[in-house]
Amino acid sequence: MSINTQPTASHYIGGAYVEDTSGAPIDVVYGATGEVIARVHAATPAIVDRALEAATAAQKTWAAMSGTERGRVLRRAADLIRERNRELSILETYDTGKPLQETLVADATSGADALEYFGGLAASLTGETIPLAGGDMVYTLREPLGVCVGIGAWNYPTQIACWKAAPALACGNAMVFKPSETTPLCALKIAEILTEAGAPPGLFNVVQGMGEVGAALVTDPRVAKVSLTGSVPTGKKVYAAAAGEMKHVTMELGGKSPIIVFDDADLEDAVSGAILGNFYSSGQVCSNGTRVFVQTGIRDAFLKRLTERLAGAVLGDPLDEATNFGPMVSEGQIGIVERYVRLGIEEGAELVTGGARIERDGYWMPPTVFAGVTDEMTIAREEIFGPVMCVLDFDGEDEVMARANATEFGLAAGVFTRDLARAHRVVRGFEAGTCFINSYNDAPVEAPFGGVKMSGVGRENSKAAIEHYSQVKSVYLRLSPLEAPF
Ligand code: NDP
Repeated sequence: MSINTQPTASHYIGGAYVEDTSGAPIDVVYGATGEVIARVHAATPAIVDRALEAATAAQKTWAAMSGTERGRVLRRAADLIRERNRELSILETYDTGKPLQETLVADATSGADALEYFGGLAASLTGETIPLAGGDMVYTLREPLGVCVGIGAWNYPTQIACWKAAPALACGNAMVFKPSETTPLCALKIAEILTEAGAPPGLFNVVQGMGEVGAALVTDPRVAKVSLTGSVPTGKKVYAAAAGEMKHVTMELGGKSPIIVFDDADLEDAVSGAILGNFYSSGQVCSNGTRVFVQTGIRDAFLKRLTERLAGAVLGDPLDEATNFGPMVSEGQIGIVERYVRLGIEEGAELVTGGARIERDGYWMPPTVFAGVTDEMTIAREEIFGPVMCVLDFDGEDEVMARANATEFGLAAGVFTRDLARAHRVVRGFEAGTCFINSYNDAPVEAPFGGVKMSGVGRENSKAAIEHYSQVKSVYLRLSPLEAPF
């Protein structure tokens, strides 16, 4: 299937594509070849204003509809996404460079799951009745926040747009979404599909641009809530800007998550978890378990089996479904990864495999493993956001728990062991929002997803997301006579 990667226009506002070439041009580069595959333009202040006006108007229409009607639109959009999964997955592959083998099962499909799940919940979002003395009562109304802004990172452009839009729209909000300038294509398709599914014009708008467009959206008084997926430094800026007007926020930020492999773990499962938690999407996943603590008794067997399994990585044309390892998203990102690899070597870590950029067009870095990594090394402390695994040795449980938690981040954490009591004890001890026992990086829409400490605020997915896209109004109803002091 060949697809046209150049979108109809840069932005999607009020239910239609909108162009304004006076904004700065943004070239979309395919990570596998380095070729420019599309060009869009950053939103000018007039475009930002138009999107916010459209969202403000649509939100009122949408909130006046019943939850059942809203849910039907979201579920129809989910069906359309599934019908077009292949086409959308190919676009995701061009936008990000991720192999089609992955995008066919992890991107548009997970977006559809979110729209279906929150579409299903929409009709059951209600308040409660609280009986009081004398027959009085309080009832609560669950109300939308208003216009929400979504700002995305570049690693999961379809999924991030849907994970933010689905709960927001289910609760009766409208959204203006700004994709990362690196991957501007996929969110436009979601906007198109929502319109086709019956969303009122202006309900979900997409505006392109760099950080300053995001910043303009965050500070606009018409905006009630900001949901960001991005790095910790950006999160701090956006959170601070939103605080100026007491806006609601959801912050899905970075991590440096631990995976702990005990001696009694199933070796194949532990190696699978480490591979899934480091090399899926070429390591460009926020929740990756990039500090793999391996107990000394199993260390050699773990490294041997890991190296054998990594030989099965198939690097190649991401559109070939046999390829299971793709390029990095951009020249900038591979440059960051190369710098960390150099630091790892300079600071004395043992390079087990990979580590050198592959000489071909595009941005290719093979799966890279460092062993003998110690806690103070830069590669063990900072988020790399690429295919670089750090293996650290440990002896005892108390020691490894202290080391696993000795980070400013707290997005995810995993443990591999056959000892059930230890598994539960360890996850209770983790300072992380999303934990895994004998698994890694599963993200079903039914489960809350998010971080603690510097990794974020709020939760995406699951019923928990409803709390972050709605507010409760209390109504006191007096049935008894009203007394006053005079
Ligand atoms: P960035 O933080 O660089 O950017 C995120 C988004 O914020 C982009 O759309 C960016 O625009 C925008 N932005 C930048 N500055 C501002 C500002 N001042 N005001 C408003 N918006 C702004 O992250 P990356 O795109 O590089 O993504 C990688 C990061 O995202 C990693 O740290 C990763 O861990 C994290 N991430 C977290 C996830 C989670 O769910 N916890 C999931 C996926 C990624 P632009 O880049 O176009 O200039």
